[in-house]
Amino acid sequence: MKSVMGGILAAAVLVVPAFAQEVNVYTYREPGLIKPLFDKFTAETGIKVNAVFASSGLEERIATEGANSPADLLISVDVARLTKAVELGIAQPLTSPALEAAVPPGLRDPDHFWVGLSLRGRVVYASKDRVPDTAITYEDLADPKWKGKICIRSGQHQYNLALFGAMIAKHGPDKAKVWLEGVKDNLAKKPSGGDRDVAKDIAAGACEIGLGNTYYVGLMQANPEQKDWAAAIKVIMPTFTDGGGTHINVSGLVLAKNAPNKDNAVKLAEWLVSDEAQHIYAETNNEYPVKAGIAVSPTVAAFGKLVPDTTPLSEIAKNRKAASELVDAVGFDG
Ligand code: FE
Repeated sequence: MKSVMGGILAAAVLVVPAFAQEVNVYTYREPGLIKPLFDKFTAETGIKVNAVFASSGLEERIATEGANSPADLLISVDVARLTKAVELGIAQPLTSPALEAAVPPGLRDPDHFWVGLSLRGRVVYASKDRVPDTAITYEDLADPKWKGKICIRSGQHQYNLALFGAMIAKHGPDKAKVWLEGVKDNLAKKPSGGDRDVAKDIAAGACEIGLGNTYYVGLMQANPEQKDWAAAIKVIMPTFTDGGGTHINVSGLVLAKNAPNKDNAVKLAEWLVSDEAQHIYAETNNEYPVKAGIAVSPTVAAFGKLVPDTTPLSEIAKNRKAASELVDAVGFDG
């Protein structure tokens, strides 16, 4: 009897995986954005998405879990976080004709270890009432004309490190340092808060301009407590001088090295660059789709045309450490 029961149990255990079509995602993204995407994917494919949400430490967690890690995909923002996952050895190459067709080469790893899913610009928020300027370069932020007029979050935040890394790529570390000192000299207050606090400070008259990511404008507009901040600012799409474009970054993913559900992970990755998913990225989170031909939201369209800077994201990621050292060297946050 005992052995019969054992046999039944063993059979039941063996059968489960055949029914349980699933994929395990570790992510830094807000549940409010990414859950609607996962739910749609599940509805269309029958593949359940098990998500682990966290604000830090997911790469280390996957590394610690090692060969037994249940993680199939790591979905993150900021290219440096994706390349860090690769450096930690927790990713494997993901080659897929569907991904390559949908995502332009500059927005994915030449070695196939990471792929971008959506874009954001790092732009200037400027007082609608007090700033008549309609065009500005990143280099201009160091111009003494802005002395005491700029607000910004910590220089050590990943969004700023990426921008400073792009500045190093453009002008070299010495000129980038002079530039960052100039920006520091123009600050109205010690760097603090998040991008939305920049708009809040502009609305309160504490500063005239600052830097923020594009999608926060949509988030502020949708929040009754923050919509006045959004109403107080206009977005100026800054560019680098000498024909550069607007600094952009990605949200993206890596395929975990020991992904137990690799086929389903690839299906989800490919689905996330489908027209349908890219439309959700545009409408729900006011991000720019990576895929050509998908319209941006009306909020984002109002910013004017995005001309992305062409510095490869992989190069920006490489400059992350140098950018962080630069922030310390000029006492940017001090
Ligand atoms: Fe953000």
